[in-house]
Amino acid sequence: MSPAGATRRRRREEADPIAPAVGVIAIVGRPNVGKSTLFNRLTGTRRAIVDAFAGLTRDRLYGVVEWGGKRFTVVDTAGLDVPLPRDAAPDIAALTRATREQAQMAITEADVCCFMVDVRDGVTALDEEIAQALRRGGRPVILVGNKADSQVDRYRADELYRLGLGDPLLISALQGTDTGDLLDRFVAELPESGAAGTEPAAGEVSVAIIGRPNTGKSSLLNGLVGSERALVSPVAGTTRDVVDTVVSLDGRKIRLVDTAGIRRRGIVTENVERYSLLRSLRALQRSDVGLLVIDASEGASAQDRHIAGYAVEAGAGLVVAANKWDLVKHEDRVDAGFLKKLQDSFSFVPGVPVLTLSATEHRNLKRVMPAVLAVADARAIHIPTPALNNLIRNALDEHPPRTHKGRRLKILYATQARSPVPTIVLFVNDPELMHFAYQRYLENRIRAVFGFAGVRLRIVTRHRDESDD
Ligand code: GDP
Ligand code: GDP
Repeated sequence: MSPAGATRRRRREEADPIAPAVGVIAIVGRPNVGKSTLFNRLTGTRRAIVDAFAGLTRDRLYGVVEWGGKRFTVVDTAGLDVPLPRDAAPDIAALTRATREQAQMAITEADVCCFMVDVRDGVTALDEEIAQALRRGGRPVILVGNKADSQVDRYRADELYRLGLGDPLLISALQGTDTGDLLDRFVAELPESGAAGTEPAAGEVSVAIIGRPNTGKSSLLNGLVGSERALVSPVAGTTRDVVDTVVSLDGRKIRLVDTAGIRRRGIVTENVERYSLLRSLRALQRSDVGLLVIDASEGASAQDRHIAGYAVEAGAGLVVAANKWDLVKHEDRVDAGFLKKLQDSFSFVPGVPVLTLSATEHRNLKRVMPAVLAVADARAIHIPTPALNNLIRNALDEHPPRTHKGRRLKILYATQARSPVPTIVLFVNDPELMHFAYQRYLENRIRAVFGFAGVRLRIVTRHRDESDD
């Protein structure tokens, strides 16, 4: 192989997005500086598989972004806020309060704050106030001057030094100018492995209890911890008020991540919901499995599916707890079609366990931890390379790929990457020849033998010259 070829190959390997998501980046700034434009640019260009399946393209506030071999979560904090009227004369007091809260939330809960200002407007009083909070907050801050569409706009950037946050990075979110540099900065500021908090010990399975407010997360936590009659020990995290709880079941340890955060959600105050979303995104990034609690009496909502999609995008396995089963009408409870419909809502995660239970009535709680362990085990499956290559060869023989412009996809070699997130790497003659439907077919063949129930299976194609071996 030529040196150029070697370089090419190495680059591709470095860029392979096979690590679990690490870190949460919050975009903050006063209204209209371009936060959602940037968010959409960073997350929207990706062909989000889950969105395609669940038909969820609107109102996204958080998404997983892949860049420079890292995967991380970007959050548009404006979307977490009380919607402010854009056209009406702004109520300065309300606006200031909301923006201040946003910044505070980002400082408390995010790993990196991306602070956006509008270079055309220069520095406003509100910008200065946010900057002050961010400077005191102790989190890495990246100062972004947006709407630098032209050279003239760039000259105005000098003013931004006044904010005391160092060099501003000038971008145009609208045109996409220099957003790659911004992503480089994100990657540089992110923590190396799991976000702040304790790292799970080897052999331990960590679980984040996630879901919309009021679905019964804290009730389920209490039920699980109470009913296991097992060793329960609170484990202090290294930072903030993060507390995990470890329970053991059949000799295995299960760490319930950020139980302090879940309990806090039980206290209903005005801001808890917004904080809790950021918190659960972080908790998920430290977890092997997301335990999504939904309110079965309301059915699965778009938001439930969105959270499920996020969990698997972030690299966790998924178990769905269809809680409040006691509130489901009797005729629905005995109707297999009702349950099937719930299951189908999450079919973009093949084989995901959907458990009907009642946290407050303590019904079916004993099924939860075994399901969590099963999904964690599925996520840890490593297919031996010869078995995988056999399987792929048979799949190719039985249903060869179609030719495209006279050329046919060839899969020269397959292997499962060493990664906490199941990833199959296919070395092919030309990655362009791999079609979505065919990839899906291969995925189904792999799942038919190895399962991976409740886990997203990533398939990555890489070019390999046919003369290489
Ligand atoms: P947010 O309130 O901070 O989320 O701001 P939006 O993303 O909604 O953007 C506010 C307005 O600024 C919209 O009309 C955007 O099209 C516009 N905008 C955002 N980024 C840019 C940019 O880079 N250049 C220009 N010229 N306009 C932008
Ligand atoms: P969280 O916000 O997701 O943590 O939800 P909570 O655990 O605070 O529960 C919200 C409300 O739903 C509380 O009033 C609970 O008593 C109630 N709840 C939780 N689980 C169940 C359940 O299985 N059945 C019924 N009927 N109510 C439940």
